[in-house]
Amino acid sequence: MIPISLSSPAVTTSLSLSHHLNPVQGLDKCSSMAELKQFHSQIIRLGLSSDNNIMGRGIKFCALSDHGDLSYAHKLFDKISHPDTFIYNTLIRGYLQCYLARECLILYLRMLHHSVLPNSFTFPSLVRACCIDNWVEQGLQIHAYAIKFGFLDDGICQNNLVYMYVSFGCMEEARRVFDKMPQRDAVSWTTLISGYSRLGLVKDASEVFRTMPNRNSAAWSSMIATYVQHNLFNEAFALFNEMRTKNIELDTYVIASMLSACSKLGALEQGEWIHGYIKRNEIEMDTKLATTVIDWYCKCGCLEKAFEVFDGLQSKGISTWNCMIGGFAMHGRGEAAIELFKAMERGGVASDSITFLNVLNACAHSGLVETGRYYFKHMSRVHGLKPRVEHFGCLVDLLGRVGLLDEATKVVEEEMPMEADARVLGALVGACKIHGNIELGVKFGKRLIELDPYNSGRYVLLANLYASAGKWEEVANIRKLMNDRGVKKTPGISVIEMEGIVSEFVAGGRAHPESNEIYCKLDEMLDRIRCLGYVPDTDEVLQDIVEEEKENPLNYHSEKLAIAYGLLKAKPGQTIRISKNLRVCRDCHQASKLISKAFNRKIIVRDRNRFHHFRDGECSCNDFW
Ligand code: ZN
Ligand code: ZN
Repeated sequence: MIPISLSSPAVTTSLSLSHHLNPVQGLDKCSSMAELKQFHSQIIRLGLSSDNNIMGRGIKFCALSDHGDLSYAHKLFDKISHPDTFIYNTLIRGYLQCYLARECLILYLRMLHHSVLPNSFTFPSLVRACCIDNWVEQGLQIHAYAIKFGFLDDGICQNNLVYMYVSFGCMEEARRVFDKMPQRDAVSWTTLISGYSRLGLVKDASEVFRTMPNRNSAAWSSMIATYVQHNLFNEAFALFNEMRTKNIELDTYVIASMLSACSKLGALEQGEWIHGYIKRNEIEMDTKLATTVIDWYCKCGCLEKAFEVFDGLQSKGISTWNCMIGGFAMHGRGEAAIELFKAMERGGVASDSITFLNVLNACAHSGLVETGRYYFKHMSRVHGLKPRVEHFGCLVDLLGRVGLLDEATKVVEEEMPMEADARVLGALVGACKIHGNIELGVKFGKRLIELDPYNSGRYVLLANLYASAGKWEEVANIRKLMNDRGVKKTPGISVIEMEGIVSEFVAGGRAHPESNEIYCKLDEMLDRIRCLGYVPDTDEVLQDIVEEEKENPLNYHSEKLAIAYGLLKAKPGQTIRISKNLRVCRDCHQASKLISKAFNRKIIVRDRNRFHHFRDGECSCNDFW
């Protein structure tokens, strides 16, 4: 190494920078490229521009710092006659940070060509580089080099290899590296868990989780997220409760996963505990977490609480606004949604296409035709956003619901610049069904089942159209077509949370431990609403036969079972909240209205499309869903 005097007076006096450092120290403390270039010129004047130690510091700043310049780093690199391992590693890391995998591997080859030995810092970057574009072949070669150079016992290198195979989706290879590791840390375990999870191998993920020693909160969090992503809510809740009893600190990831589980299920009590935990532990509500909380309150039917959280936020991101507007839309509070959107515009928050999707949905769910038409134009005219197929879907839905079938057809056939997708046609056919335009409904219904051939709901819709025209032969044909194509019917599932426990009901199911009591309550329930004039709605029997299980009569629909269970368990004045995976059928809708009156009980049902607030014999949707 070239000896340099750090206190050389020649250096300090010639420095024009505010801090009087010598250029070598200066390189470590640089804060801009301009500064770096000044130091560099000094170094050249001192004849040190080929010194690996000094130039390495300069390259490190250029390649890795936020204020650096990667191409300048490469220029410096090219000037050095014999760059060492540190310099190569630094530049490789720089390219990795910019996702330039090719450059990383070229540098490695250059390294080999010049007989510069890689060290334990070299391989992790190279392995990561292969993950960028799924370079399996190159990844295998790098793995072989790591073995050849003797880095197989290096924990970081191993963890990266596990990560690489996981990202390639090669779980067997990942497992092989993992099993041979002399020492595994939390990263190794969680990488494997998330790998299995990504491929939907939940059982394997949970097995790894169970055998993991000293599970840290990241592992718990990753396992819970796995369950939630795969809709295994009971497992997620069980694990979450285990975490609570073991007093493991809940990080924001677990909190967000659990809240989104609560949102999907409409689980209010569990979510309230989590929201309480956030407040008790003063966990920072960033935009993402706040949006999750608001979404959960909306999905549990607590719009006021959602708005309270929304209103109390210091700063709101666009997703927060979108979430709240969408919440009002789902609950049929069209005017409130529009007011909020206006406030958003006044506040100068830029809206995006999701904002307008929610605004148009709000108009559709509340029958605000004029407003909807206005905002559909407004979005491109004022905000420069081109309507996408989803926006046209909302427009068609909006027009169709109020019976403007000709105008809706015109949108589909003439105005849309793109092909109508299944959602657009679904909205139109649904509207035809509501307004009794069989001919038009059948025309588009036929197109719809070809466009979305594995969705049972589309066949049901078409079959119902034929049925209302008395064309039973056609109904039978549709059934046969469904069978021939192997279209699976989606079973109706209703979920209810009572006393913090989430229960699921399927039509006619008897799996619940309190099933006898529930069926007793169901009979009482039906008796009491019959006194109020309830007559089973046989018109939609066909739909129910297809959508729910065939052998069960109407009375045993999943939501009726869930309501009966709710009545059995609810405290006086407590609202019953149910979420259903399918659309509420007409019979259940009518029954729910009467139950709310007969038992003087508020019932909130979330179905596939929207919310129904049943109260005193009425529904918030005004029979419009
Ligand atoms: Zn039903
Ligand atoms: Zn309703």
